[in-house]
This record gives sequence, C-alpha cells and structure tokens, in this order.
Amino acid sequence: MAESVWRIPLADVDMGEPEIAAVTEVLRSGWLTMGEKTQAFEAAMAARLGVRHAFAVANGTVALHLAYAALGLGPGDEVILPALTFVATANAATYTGATPVFAEIYGPHDLNIDPEDVARRITPRTRAICVVHYAGYPVDMNPILALAREHGLGVVEDAAHAPGAMYQSQALGTIGDVGCFSFFSNKNLAVGEGGMVVTNRDDLAERIRLMRSHGMTTLTWDRHRGHASSYDVVSPGFNYRLDEIRAALGLAQLDRLDGNNARRKALVAHYRELLAGVPGVEAPFAQPLGDPSYHIIPVLLAPELSRAAVIAAMKADRIQTSIHYPPIHLFTYYRERFGAQEGMLPRTEAVAARELTLPLYPTLGPDGVEQVVAGLRRAVESARQAADAVSAVS
Ligand SMILES: *Cc1c(COP(=O)(O)O)cnc(C)c1O
Repeated sequence: MAESVWRIPLADVDMGEPEIAAVTEVLRSGWLTMGEKTQAFEAAMAARLGVRHAFAVANGTVALHLAYAALGLGPGDEVILPALTFVATANAATYTGATPVFAEIYGPHDLNIDPEDVARRITPRTRAICVVHYAGYPVDMNPILALAREHGLGVVEDAAHAPGAMYQSQALGTIGDVGCFSFFSNKNLAVGEGGMVVTNRDDLAERIRLMRSHGMTTLTWDRHRGHASSYDVVSPGFNYRLDEIRAALGLAQLDRLDGNNARRKALVAHYRELLAGVPGVEAPFAQPLGDPSYHIIPVLLAPELSRAAVIAAMKADRIQTSIHYPPIHLFTYYRERFGAQEGMLPRTEAVAARELTLPLYPTLGPDGVEQVVAGLRRAVESARQAADAVSAVS
C-alpha cells in the first residue's frame, strides 16, 4: 500500500513479483509499444471473456470513444445513458458530436439503468444505448437488447467496473455490440492507465482497429516484422494505443482477476451481514442478476442524515470514502450545453444525494471490513446527534 494519511484507503492495488518480472522483461526486450505483449493481452482477454475481437487501448475513456465512433454516432444523433456514472461515459459520446440523453436508474434497491425509462426516452434521433454495469452488477440486458432490436439501435456496454462479471453465462462487455473496459489504478484489473474495446462484430472490429492507430492500414509492428512496408490512411483516426509495458502488466493482473473478484465477493458478503445491523444505512443490490465483479460497495444513508457529516467523521477516523457519483446531468457543462437540469431525474437525484462508497479491495480482509463498519456506525451516530441538536434548537 502507498504511504497515506488513511488507516483504510478507499481502494488499493494488488501487485507483486509477477507484475515486476513482466514489466522488467519488456524493458529488457527493447520493444516498448504494440507488440507481442499487447497481442497476448488481447488474446487472453478475448479468451477469458469469450469474445471474437479485443483491442487494447490507452484508457477506458478512449475505449468508449472508439465504441461510439465505430457505431457511427455524430452530430444530431442521440445516445441514451445513465446519469449515475463516471462522467467519461457521457463525455466520450460528446467527442463524436452526439447528444447524451440521460435515463433513470431503478431506485434505491438497484442503481442500474431502468430499461422502461430508456424506452420512454427513445426518439427518431436515438442511435444507441450505453449501459453501465454499476459496481460490476449486471444490467438486465434482455430488455435493453429487445429495445435495441425494435428500434435499430447500437448497444455499448461501459464495463469499466465489470471485468469477469457474468450475465446469463455471458461475460459483461460481450453482450451488446461493443464493450469497454478500464484498467485505471483503482479498477479490478489495474495497469495504471489502460483499457480494452471488445466486440463480436467483424465490421465494428475493423473500424476500431483503424481508428485506434491513425486510420493507418498497417502497424509499426507489422513493418518491424517485415509483414508490410508501407500504409494507407483510410480515416482520420487517433493514437489510442496501449504500450507493451502496460500490456505485460495487464497479463499478470488478468491471472489474478478471478481470484481477486472472489475475494471482493466474500468481503461484500461480510459487509452486507454487518451493515444490516447499522441503523440509517442500507446496502443496494441485495438480489443481483448473474455473477457481479463487486468493483465498489455503495451504501445509502437515511435521508435525514448529513452525508458530509458522515464523511467528515469517517475522515477523522482515517477511513477514506467516496461518492459514486455526482450525477452527470447536474454538471455545469451538461446543464449549459444540453439543457439538463435538477428535477429531470428524481430517482437518480434522490439516490445520488444519499450514496456513500466504502473501502473495498482484495487485500482489505474481514478485519478491515469490521473496522470500516465500526467506523461507519460511530460516524452515523455522531451525524444523528448533530441533526437532533439542530432540530432541538429550531
Ligand atoms: C473508470 C471509468 C471510466 C473511464 O476509464 P478511464 O480508464 O479512467 O479513462 C469510464 N466509465 C466508468 C463507469 C468508469 O468507472
């Protein structure tokens, strides 16, 4: 763990000798970008997920951009997505000129997008739906796919939280047209900065391959191996490549993924058991669909409790917490550019105002969970006393 002010940090990486050896091997090899390690990482991810095509990219945000761009989104097109997600889910759509249209979550019991609300927001301009598997809990994909078929829409899965999670024996990220993963430091599979785009569609794969590397028809790697001597450019692509160092790190991290997801699952079960005894705190996703990846553990505080007071008390106890997420439609840019406003998504807004994310990472251990819940109990108690004192005065 990095030196820190926290007794228990929000997240932590799980790196060891295999990662150090993998990175060192690349440095000694003299080939630093898009070579054997990248191909091996893509092949291993494709095999683990059971998908035809996997493209390693620089981060999860550009994975989303490639997904939206491959589906042909552009100015005038609308893409329906949740507001309770990291801002990159929507930002990446705006890179194409498309308009994000925000849909509701189910509510306090399930923080995933509600397919019925998605249906209500479909217009003649809708071209795609992007679902986010919040915390690695599978979105109910069947009604989403049915809507997509009925209206001829593309389906993007933001699977940044969900590597290794399953829905009806399919890996999340492989169910819609395109799936996007992030390997940012705090994700279930971490390389620092990195991502992956996956698809079963050959036509989309070809576009993604080209756009990842300047729209060029051959790679430096192909030319190095003597497989090509020149190239053409067939679209104004990007440089969204991953390097060999991170690909090697990703391969080593992939070996740990299923084991670490199982540790997360056990920690979440322990959390749920203990949280049931804390008044004023509820844990959503009591009945997940399929097999989640347990990326984070969100809880909801009773509406009368001050979340700021709970966070401050936890901080004083040196336990780090977070909020997932400030809803996107309330950010200045989205209000000013797309006319989003408070009141548009009452269910999302009510949940977002009460959400608190507790520490979760594979090496936390049952003792860590117990310390966090004890700290939360004290924090909620002091927030409640403060609220009672205020109401007694007024
Ligand atoms: C982390 C994350 C992203 C962005 O990934 P980066 O690799 O940080 O660019 C996108 N969507 C969600 C839901 C995320 O959690």
